[in-house]
Amino acid sequence: MNYISTRGNAPESGAAEVIAQGMVQRGGLFVPESIPQLDLELLKNLNYHQLAFQVLSPYLCGEGKAYTEEELKDSIAAAYSAERFESDNPAPVKVLPDGPSVLELWHGPTAAFKDMALQILPHLLSGAVKKLGRKKEVVILVATSGDTGKAALEGFRDVPGTRVLVFYPKDGVSKVQELQMLTTSGSNTGVMGVDGNFDDCQTMVKNCFGDLFWNKKLSEGGFELSSANSINWGRLAPQIVYYFWGYFEMLRAGRIRLGDPIVAVVPTGNFGNILAAYYAREMGLPVTRLVCASNKNKVLSDFIATGEYDRRRDFHKTSSPSMDILISSNLERFLFEMTRHNAGKLSRWYDDLGRKGHFHVDDTTRQRIQSILSGGFATEEETMAEIKRVYDATGYVMDPHTAVGSHVYECYRKSSGDETPALLCSTASPFKFNPAVYSAITGQPAGDDELATAAKLSGAAKIEIHRALKDIDKLPARAKTSIKAADGKLAVERWLKLPETVMKGK
Ligand SMILES: *Cc1c(COP(=O)(O)O)cnc(C)c1O
Repeated sequence: MNYISTRGNAPESGAAEVIAQGMVQRGGLFVPESIPQLDLELLKNLNYHQLAFQVLSPYLCGEGKAYTEEELKDSIAAAYSAERFESDNPAPVKVLPDGPSVLELWHGPTAAFKDMALQILPHLLSGAVKKLGRKKEVVILVATSGDTGKAALEGFRDVPGTRVLVFYPKDGVSKVQELQMLTTSGSNTGVMGVDGNFDDCQTMVKNCFGDLFWNKKLSEGGFELSSANSINWGRLAPQIVYYFWGYFEMLRAGRIRLGDPIVAVVPTGNFGNILAAYYAREMGLPVTRLVCASNKNKVLSDFIATGEYDRRRDFHKTSSPSMDILISSNLERFLFEMTRHNAGKLSRWYDDLGRKGHFHVDDTTRQRIQSILSGGFATEEETMAEIKRVYDATGYVMDPHTAVGSHVYECYRKSSGDETPALLCSTASPFKFNPAVYSAITGQPAGDDELATAAKLSGAAKIEIHRALKDIDKLPARAKTSIKAADGKLAVERWLKLPETVMKGK
């Protein structure tokens, strides 16, 4: 498979090159030149590893700068092992009576849906670097508002040829999230608190990437930087797999018959997860509609309704923080498909977004978008009420992100009358956001101690605490360190133990 840039500004590249590179240097994202077709009949009885191979190999395997079938199989086996996901089924489905089938994407080692992709990406990335003959050690720098940091640390922990360093706002993540990061083991992992907010962390990381002179120095020291965020195709492709898996789980549960249509409902932030659903649909999975659910930061739901993408608005902090996003990077890939690969249009729109903060798509593109996507959003009150409603009706406990999806789905169902069976992505364990979930369900305030609240939630709802979050305060933790946002590069140099002679360029 060849990959091309959404803005027509990169040479055709192989899978290993696009994964090693992450994004197109001058802006734009790599997309596959065409979308492979699969036959459901041949896939329906496969286990997760076999299915992942069938879905991913047309994208990733081939001659030259792509992976061999053996390499892909090994990466899949290492990533989705029973040890890492505590089961042979990494993504089980719970069918709610008179409701959607819930695809639980948080059974990985950090209880976050990011594990589904970040468990395999490190293997693909280190494989790519080797294949391309690069001799340097890959250094992954991650800015996190909480969840991605821990998932990246766990994914890259002890993967040969890689190191991972995470920056988080030192007073801006939850106690549980901080503990999760500080208790990571592995000799190639690092965690630093930053005196500032998430934007400061992100700017710091971007400055590291953008300083070409400094990168040259790192290279002389034997290192090259790379990124593990969701614009990397190596994070996106593995997410296509679980839509097929969810469909076959619904089949096995007797909810649908082979070939029946479904609706996919996705709580959306950076548009990665829902884009994977779109690719699954284009590959032959009978998904009639994609329901794109936002929280109060409803840029996407406005965009789907009007064709105007406008980031010039207030940013809201919500109880579903992983969806608090005003620029959904992966939308660019979807628009490239909706314009039938019109790189000129894409360049103009994203230039407008950069310079003016908004862009407007033409009517034909808007109508194509609306024929596939339905958007909607949930306020904070609606999100909490939805957690409670689902719990009272079914006993099922949802985290706030999943509840946003559930609320938007119920609105869609009422307004459209569409009773096609739905697959709802559940993106976080309720224990990751236990104070909000506990008060939604019991109507009681949660108190300040998150760990105590986890125990109370477990008792009240009679569900087990996710293993990643259990007794986390009893694990050996590294000391909390913090740096000033202006000292990012220095901190990286020290962490890599680069000799000063290299950095001064002697
Ligand atoms: C990252 C994340 C999302 C958003 O997924 P996108 O691929 O960015 O749309 C939703 N929920 C949770 C819990 C997440 O961590």
